[in-house]
Amino acid sequence: MKRTLLLAILALLWNSTAYSQDVYERNEFADVRHYVFSLELNDSNNRITGEALVTVDFKDEVENFSLDLIKKSGEFGMELIGMSEGERPISYEYENNKIIVPAKSGIKTYKVQYQGIPERGLVIDTTKFGQRSFFGDNWPNLARHWLPCVDHPYDKASLEFKITAPDKYDVVATGKKVEESSLGNGYKITHYHEPAPVAMKVVTIGVTQFATKLLGKVNDIPVTAWVYPENRLDGFSDYAVAVNVLEYFVKNIGPYPFAKLANMQAKTQWGGLENAGTIAYFENSVSGKNEVEGLIAHEIAHQWFGNSATENSWNHVWLSEGFATYFTILYQEDVYGNNKRKEELILDRRQVIEYYKRNPSAVVDNSIKNPMRVLSTNTYQKGSWVLNMLRRKLGDEIFWKGIRQYYEAFRDSNVMTGDFRVVMEKVSGEDLESFFQQWIYTKGYPEIQWNWEYQNKKIIVSLEQKQEHFAFGFPLEVGITANGKTTIETLRVDNNRHTFEIVSDTKPEEVILDPDVWLLFEEK
Ligand SMILES: [Zn+2]
Repeated sequence: MKRTLLLAILALLWNSTAYSQDVYERNEFADVRHYVFSLELNDSNNRITGEALVTVDFKDEVENFSLDLIKKSGEFGMELIGMSEGERPISYEYENNKIIVPAKSGIKTYKVQYQGIPERGLVIDTTKFGQRSFFGDNWPNLARHWLPCVDHPYDKASLEFKITAPDKYDVVATGKKVEESSLGNGYKITHYHEPAPVAMKVVTIGVTQFATKLLGKVNDIPVTAWVYPENRLDGFSDYAVAVNVLEYFVKNIGPYPFAKLANMQAKTQWGGLENAGTIAYFENSVSGKNEVEGLIAHEIAHQWFGNSATENSWNHVWLSEGFATYFTILYQEDVYGNNKRKEELILDRRQVIEYYKRNPSAVVDNSIKNPMRVLSTNTYQKGSWVLNMLRRKLGDEIFWKGIRQYYEAFRDSNVMTGDFRVVMEKVSGEDLESFFQQWIYTKGYPEIQWNWEYQNKKIIVSLEQKQEHFAFGFPLEVGITANGKTTIETLRVDNNRHTFEIVSDTKPEEVILDPDVWLLFEEK
């Protein structure tokens, strides 16, 4: 979900900030294949001791390779204890929060030994019940505060966590649990392994006293709840719906991409954070009243969209958030019916319009360079609305076929908007260039001023697109109610002004635009 009160405050600041696009410095010749993060946590202070094994595949001769890790400055940040390739110490530079090491071709495994107190990323705090807790909260680029890594979603890798922690704690982390052993000294080690590549933005651990329950299994994927012991029964009840959600998405999209699906009550700066296979939900998500079904559906949808088929650039984050928003609506439509879809989309349309008036920009906005600023009503609600319109344009069967092929093609991989368009074009046989151009890359939406009258057995609908910059092209459904019965006519709009004539024997009682909520527009 990733929306907080903080965002409302940030939204006020966004308008005045400088612009540029995703500027992460990429090394296209290096591909991180696997991480093993060994971490030691303790109760007497917030210092962590870490060792990271980073296996890198160099596609070509490169002079050096760098890992992100926030360097100690004052109280917070990390100090390097050792840096080696295999067991052989190597020279390195550590500046501007990057560890730079020499590289060559082939596959190399670096060992980074470090320690320090993380300021962010790993939140060491107490739960709302006063219990000590450690929670990873990386999105978008806070992994570098506690894990040496390529901290950008373009380079994903499989990973392992080996967490040493006081043995009174329960430890959950990205991946499948492969070991939990007491070390006999008051500590235990817990080892998790995720074979699918994961972006660092959605890598996590959770360490505190948890109550845990197996909620169910879907195609051998265990679905579990990890909640505070004080919230045991309410938490198990609230999170149980995750099983139904997972079933729905597996059936309609394709195989679940990760080793497990843990649902974790957590300290997170977000409402929910879709960490791969180990979702974090805000502490007060547990109420015992099943109030977070939509949030749970959103975060689970991310496992396919954002976590497995991952945006290659932060500026294309609608492929993550717009999809999670719309697939939540699809799930709700399946459970509660079409009226639920309409209600949600009407609310979202209002938000898109309000947001646009304050911040007229496109869904893919290449002027944004800070990933914290890519989350907006444009990337969530408008992105979702674009999928609703695409579904209407292609029809349900082609839409779902396209979604399945898109996931199949880009599972465990990275994508851009153009990749999604190409798949949907292939499946439908339609040219979607202008559709994507006007809804994703152009700001705004049709602002329609219109009226109707009845003359000579005809309904005459006159309309004008009032937005300044651009004439949108779209099918416009008109609902005509006569003698208590409503029929729908579809009009093709592609100019600024139109007059349509619809033959009708009787004068309608009512004529309305878009009765079934398939068009993003503002009625002026
Ligand atoms: Zn989300």
